[in-house]
Amino acid sequence: HLDRIAEVDSDVHAFLHVDADGALAAARTVDESLAGGGEPTSALAGVPLALKDVFTTSDMPTTCGSRTLENWVPPYDATVTRKLREAGVPILGKTNMDEFAMGSSTENSAFGPTRNPWDRERVPGGSGGGSSASLAAFEAPLAIGTDTGGSIRQPAAVTGTVGVKPTYGGVSRYGLVAFSSSLDQGGPCARTVLDAALLHEVIAGHDPLDSTSIDMPVPPVVRAAREGARGDLTGVKVGVVRELSGEGYQAGVLASFDAAVARLRELGAEIVEVSCPNFSYGLSAYYLIAPSECSSNLARFDAMRYGLRVSDDGDHSAEEVMSASREAGFGPEVKRRIMLGTYALSSGYYDAYYGSAQKVRTLIARDFTAAFEQVDVLVSPTTPTTAFRLGERVDDPLAMYLADLATIPANLAGNAAMSVPSGLSDDDGLPVGLQIMAPALADERLYRVGAAYE
Ligand code: GLN
Repeated sequence: HLDRIAEVDSDVHAFLHVDADGALAAARTVDESLAGGGEPTSALAGVPLALKDVFTTSDMPTTCGSRTLENWVPPYDATVTRKLREAGVPILGKTNMDEFAMGSSTENSAFGPTRNPWDRERVPGGSGGGSSASLAAFEAPLAIGTDTGGSIRQPAAVTGTVGVKPTYGGVSRYGLVAFSSSLDQGGPCARTVLDAALLHEVIAGHDPLDSTSIDMPVPPVVRAAREGARGDLTGVKVGVVRELSGEGYQAGVLASFDAAVARLRELGAEIVEVSCPNFSYGLSAYYLIAPSECSSNLARFDAMRYGLRVSDDGDHSAEEVMSASREAGFGPEVKRRIMLGTYALSSGYYDAYYGSAQKVRTLIARDFTAAFEQVDVLVSPTTPTTAFRLGERVDDPLAMYLADLATIPANLAGNAAMSVPSGLSDDDGLPVGLQIMAPALADERLYRVGAAYE
């Protein structure tokens, strides 16, 4: 994998940092332990991985794709990082992302975009475009992403790979640099559903260092993936969400989705149409809630304790140093969101914007609850379109936001959801993703259905 990175990454640019020595040392430790008769520390011991640059690593920089954190090496490992190390998983390096995970194309990275390995003039999705592109380019067999509104599933869909957003609270957020704390969720990225399941079980589990971490056993996702791989979905009820297809979705994406539904039926699943009327408001609610939380979370980057500091010449006040550092350190999308969020939270506007968005969030959660009274899983296309061209949406934030139309409801409700490859679009020959959604705490259903389908 290091050879492959050396061969293609100057062009793909999936990685912001490669740690060949660290990865080889970790691999050697596994080899030596096995040679000495030791048991593997996990099913993935010795299998290398690419880590999104939003998880802290004590031996590598953690930049979140931002100038603010350029060259910053954190003093501690995220829980996910620690679990990977304990499982004997060598970390190849840190992957490129939209700045602070805000975006759908990796073009908001301060360090240049990642290119989609299927067509290098196109985006790999975002914000975790680096993680998914590293899989599609065969630079890594496993990767970790984070999904606040779709940043694992949307890049998975447009790169023809698998991506899972576990139930909110299923994977610790300790050491995951916060964007929108009530939505952020780390999860596995892989080329097969079983690989994703194996990684899921390594990174998931209760963590006392994260107050929203779920104190319950990890869902049996590996068992479910193996069961699903037998290809029998008899007795499984699949709901097709009426509101997540049709207008705004490319013809090739819809054709692929129809074929996917037909295939699920062939595998024995019972298919029913389900309506979730409030999903149509998901995007609007998300773009109030996520910026609101971001404006609060990003207040910590004040240039006083760590990160970029400019105008530090003794002639400027602390406020001037903070202001100049934030001006220099944050890119345009991050600034846009801080302004939107600050506005939505300000007195006089709070009830109209943030308060209303929270009510919509509850309505969406209720739509899910009602739907899951009728079916075991819900399905939709993961994204309205295949990978778009680099530059195509950079000047049009609203067009960029549309990429997450179908993925956002699961974040707002805290549910589990997966994107699994669903063939190539008739329109342009590019990958399409099938989204599968399950109730919170029932992540194993995704794996059963996903493994049967793939
Ligand atoms: N594209 C969405 C956004 O820009 C989702 C990002 C994410 O899931 N981190 O906010």
